[in-house]
Amino acid sequence: MNDNATIAIIVAAGRGARAGAGGPKQYRDLAGKAVIAHTAAAFLDHSQIDGVRIIIHPDDHQEYETAIAPLLSHEKLLAPVNGGAERQDSVRLGLQSLEANAPTRVLIHDAARPFVDAETISRVIGALADNDGAIAALPVHDTIKRGNENAQITATVPREALWRAQTPQGFHFDKILKAHHAAAGQTLTDDAAVAEAAGLAVALVPGSPDNMKLTQAEDFGMAETLLGRKRMMMEYRTGHGFDVHAFEPGDKVTLCGVEIAHDQKLKGHSDADVGMHALTDAILGAISEGDIGDHFPPSDPKWKGAASRVFLEKARDLVADKGGRITHCDVTLICEAPKIGPHRKAMRESLAQILNLDAARISVKATTTEKLGFAGRGEGLAAQATATVALPAN
Ligand code: MG
Repeated sequence: MNDNATIAIIVAAGRGARAGAGGPKQYRDLAGKAVIAHTAAAFLDHSQIDGVRIIIHPDDHQEYETAIAPLLSHEKLLAPVNGGAERQDSVRLGLQSLEANAPTRVLIHDAARPFVDAETISRVIGALADNDGAIAALPVHDTIKRGNENAQITATVPREALWRAQTPQGFHFDKILKAHHAAAGQTLTDDAAVAEAAGLAVALVPGSPDNMKLTQAEDFGMAETLLGRKRMMMEYRTGHGFDVHAFEPGDKVTLCGVEIAHDQKLKGHSDADVGMHALTDAILGAISEGDIGDHFPPSDPKWKGAASRVFLEKARDLVADKGGRITHCDVTLICEAPKIGPHRKAMRESLAQILNLDAARISVKATTTEKLGFAGRGEGLAAQATATVALPAN
């Protein structure tokens, strides 16, 4: 982990009795995936989050394993830790579990808010540059009344200065850990209250009206509707990439992340992985973010000999930061030799691992040019790729 890391703690240790039958609400199905899987993916896919730790109830290990199975291969997913009796205890235990390898920043988020978006996460992290803490919140627009035990109005509360707190709530790690230790034994309703009690400066940044907390059974119906609406509002874009590298004397080539013994190597300032370069350009093309050279100038010695996965990871992160997702990739390698067929499966798996996609969403094909042209003469190897990306329509 880098020495300026940001870790997300997702609190999923509650029992959620108010959400009705079917076990703790964070494990209930929402459009084909457990609520917790939606929530965790939002943080795992965010380029500024370095790790995700989920705090679970000691009785829920089996539910957790089932719910999180689709995300298990994600390298940012840390092992879960057990929570405590109250939410505040769970957060403290989560913070303590990170102490040995302490991050700079921590974002604390409720598992029952699966609709947190990339922009809200970015805003909270951004505000930590100038504040001890920052929370997602929304200004109150309704008129607020104070009532007595007979439900009679006793006052109208001025709403100008009122905000509804959401999560994520972000903090400098050392400060919030200390504040949680100091607050042990008190009951405070959120982590911002723990920070406030310790005298920390906590900023309010805009949350999102969609970032609702699933509390009652009827919230699930609303959540399904919201998810359906969000899916309807995605648009699909396709990008194309093309790359060529020349052969030179050597003993292996790297294609789509897989090393293949060969009597030549590909010439280039990075590892010359022509397949990965074409795919990176295809993804960048789908989101109109220029090309590989714009992000990694060949003139910069920093990228000499670089593993091309760095380029592909950058393209992946740019998609995620736009709230998008890659839905399909298709790579065609064009050469007489080496033989690609025996390595296609490994190539698909290698690309799938980097892009956090199922290998079923990745195709790798190969063709020759019937000995015609530079590829046919064995002077170089070409690759073409397309990428399909779903992006929020706006
Ligand atoms: Mg290239």
